[in-house]
Amino acid sequence: MDRRSFFKTSVVGAGAVAGLVSTVPSPATAEEAPRPPENAMLKLCSQERLVPGKNTEERLENLKNYGGVGMEFGAMDVNGAKDIKKKCADAGVGVAALCWGTFLLIAPEAETRRKAVDTLKGALDAAAEAGSTGVICVPAFHGDPQLEFYEAKKVLLDLLPEVGAHAAQVGSRVLFEPLNRGEARFLNQLALTAQICRDSGSPGIAMMGDFYHMGIEETSDEGAILSAGPHLHHIHLASRLRFLPGQDRTKEPDKPERRFIDGFRGLKQIGYHDYCSLECTCQGDPAVEIPKSFAFLKSQWEQAAV
Ligand code: MG
Repeated sequence: MDRRSFFKTSVVGAGAVAGLVSTVPSPATAEEAPRPPENAMLKLCSQERLVPGKNTEERLENLKNYGGVGMEFGAMDVNGAKDIKKKCADAGVGVAALCWGTFLLIAPEAETRRKAVDTLKGALDAAAEAGSTGVICVPAFHGDPQLEFYEAKKVLLDLLPEVGAHAAQVGSRVLFEPLNRGEARFLNQLALTAQICRDSGSPGIAMMGDFYHMGIEETSDEGAILSAGPHLHHIHLASRLRFLPGQDRTKEPDKPERRFIDGFRGLKQIGYHDYCSLECTCQGDPAVEIPKSFAFLKSQWEQAAV
């Protein structure tokens, strides 16, 4: 399953009212200061579509019972955000990133880019209302019309001050996601994405890392995460085969399991304390397999000595 399919299966509708929980992540602030390593913590989370349950309330309750402390949702409007915020507060689960989809910020036509900026601003409004970590943003998949790399980067950096100012004003952030070369060609590695965040000059422009894509694109999980540093505010977790972490051997018993220790060592060094969220498929019964995967990840975190 590719990212486009993930986006299509995770859209949240409109609904009811508000509240706060202790696990709400830090919103974007005026300065993106480095975080002390002692603040590092593993906050396990999942995309909503992966968790069993007949409605959001049930899925939140199940996730909490599995040991999760945050839930990642899809696109939503401001009313939907109020509804999610209340449901998560009632369950004692935090609202992680909103996995929104594509914002065509590097499209060849200025009109398309303007529309993308306006849509992204609306998404940031919803994310802020929900108390979410931010809005996951892919500027273009392979199939989307897009400028060539250097022109795209220049055009993007021209747009980001406006987007970043809006994000900071409402108390949210953009989370650019680097994808593997099979899905996108503009942003593939964390270091380059971090460079764009830095050059934007705005704490409202941030990024995430996805262990599935990192396994294809990065030469070192730890190095990639250190490069992202204070710009990193969300993590996607998946095995090499894009199953739950710890499930690679269910399909390929003779190959090594995807390790998370090196990347977790990086997260510890940068004092990472935002969410680490499952974005993958599950082999077997999720009610059994998600707790097993969380236990595997906790073990990998403990083995990540710094
Ligand atoms: Mg991802």
